[in-house]
Amino acid sequence: MGKFYHRRIMFRNDELICLDCGAKIDQFLSSDKECVHPTTLLEVLSKYVRISVYNCNAFLVAELPLTPLGSVSVLVQAFDPDPSIEDELSEMLEQEVESQGGGLTMSGYYDLYNSQVIRKIARWIEEGKLKLAL
Ligand SMILES: [Zn+2]
Repeated sequence: MGKFYHRRIMFRNDELICLDCGAKIDQFLSSDKECVHPTTLLEVLSKYVRISVYNCNAFLVAELPLTPLGSVSVLVQAFDPDPSIEDELSEMLEQEVESQGGGLTMSGYYDLYNSQVIRKIARWIEEGKLKLAL
């Protein structure tokens, strides 16, 4: 399993790739190969990961750019949590949405602001309990 992270990613031909080094990125947002512009999982999460609220549920999603220009056109891709963290994750996301003045009845996208939430998500990804449903 890869341990290296990439800061300029793009979804192309059903694959997640790095625009800087060309590495293929896996469901855990990492690769086996070190990038020419190394970054951390926390930065990748801050840049690409949001909370999506719809149908009275909060989901963790990544906005994956479909062009090299970044956020002009994105694929919104959900994360797939392990059953062991599912309840804790949805509770944490709900609290994060409410702390931003939102709620599960207010559909839309919310940023991840709370650094404790981001660190917890990073740890789950590193432990293999949370992955992109690619
Ligand atoms: Zn790279």
